[in-house]
Amino acid sequence: MKKLVVLGGGYGGMRILNRLLPNQLPEDIEIVLVDRVPYHSLKTEFYALAAGTISDHHVRVTFPEHHKLSVKYGEVTKIDIENNTIHFEDYSTLSFDDLVIGLGCEDKYHNIPGAQEHTFSIQSINNSRKAYQALNDLAANKVVAIVGGGLSGVEIASELRESRPDLTIKLFDRGNIILSSFPERLSQYVQNWFETHGVEVVNSSNITRVEENTLYNHDEPIHCDTIVWTAGIQPNKIVRDLEVEKDNQGRVVLTKQHNIPGYDHIYVVGDCASLPHAPSAQLAEGQAEQIVQVLVKRWNNETPPESFPQIKLKGVLGSLGKKHGFGLVNDRPLTGRVARLLKSGILWMYKYHKG
Ligand SMILES: Cc1cc2nc3c(=O)[nH]c(=O)nc-3n(C[C@H](O)[C@H](O)[C@H](O)COP(=O)(O)OP(=O)(O)OC[C@H]3O[C@@H](n4cnc5c(N)ncnc54)[C@H](O)[C@@H]3O)c2cc1C
Repeated sequence: MKKLVVLGGGYGGMRILNRLLPNQLPEDIEIVLVDRVPYHSLKTEFYALAAGTISDHHVRVTFPEHHKLSVKYGEVTKIDIENNTIHFEDYSTLSFDDLVIGLGCEDKYHNIPGAQEHTFSIQSINNSRKAYQALNDLAANKVVAIVGGGLSGVEIASELRESRPDLTIKLFDRGNIILSSFPERLSQYVQNWFETHGVEVVNSSNITRVEENTLYNHDEPIHCDTIVWTAGIQPNKIVRDLEVEKDNQGRVVLTKQHNIPGYDHIYVVGDCASLPHAPSAQLAEGQAEQIVQVLVKRWNNETPPESFPQIKLKGVLGSLGKKHGFGLVNDRPLTGRVARLLKSGILWMYKYHKG
């Protein structure tokens, strides 16, 4: 038996399993899925978990069951690509014949002193639970700062607004308008929503330091009771530690078949892979589809496609609490209840097909 190890049961890893397991796995291949948590975590919903508007159970999906799939739970500490071995925190090891690395991303703190130590994160389920505890334990009328006005910053600020109307919420954003990578009409819609709902958006901010309960914006101290960091991401530390070529965001440069150059049996999927789009769950799934094609061809001793068409993304949808949303669907801006309904519908479908 040859062993395919899938590191990370996130959006990319799950799509690989869901495509291979039903009927594409050759007789002589078995799969080992590795994750630190015993379920697929719906990272796109972590903002609501942290805000306290959905339960923990709502963001978990069980891993598939199959006689050719075994699951190893553990914290990966190192990938030895020269010796085809995965190392774990408990000093155990796991060998592989083929490997797909899908370990996702972590916060990036841009070397801002105190940012990592004094802020909460929503980049992993464990950290989102800690953020939930801190935010929901706050006494009445306390001040929450959210640093970073991208999609996840906007979603947690609005969800928290609905969850805790008593809190003062300040959203610090570097741009002179929120969601600056979106069309202006959408940014304006979101900015207006925040104004109407009493979330203070601090534009053109520059966080220079963080201390316990204090955020420094352009070196000006601002008292905050809880600070949440959503101001940047970078690939998982395990991947950052790999001695292979990376792009300027630290993501692994890959061949057109999505393997590490010189290592035809080691693929990288999702947030850790250098792709011509911003990282997203949709992109991880699209790339996983292509990796499956390459794996199957190579297992059958056939030549994989020389290149693939660009991965098609359908768009982005963000929520503003439970009733409003915004987004771009097939390049068309969408706002209001329809956008929110669409987002909920997509999540429902995703869980329905995985559950
Ligand atoms: C609040 C928020 C909202 C988002 N909204 C959207 C959205 O609306 N649409 C969209 O397309 N994208 C969205 N994203 C981005 C999306 O979640 C990621 O791009 C996507 O999860 C990447 O998939 P992945 O397979 O690369 O990794 P992940 O889904 O992050 O999976 C990584 C897996 O690896 C495991 N893991 C990590 N490190 C270790 C280790 N050392 N040992 C063992 N296991 C480990 C984790 O437990 C996890 O299961 C959002 C992200 C956030 C934070």
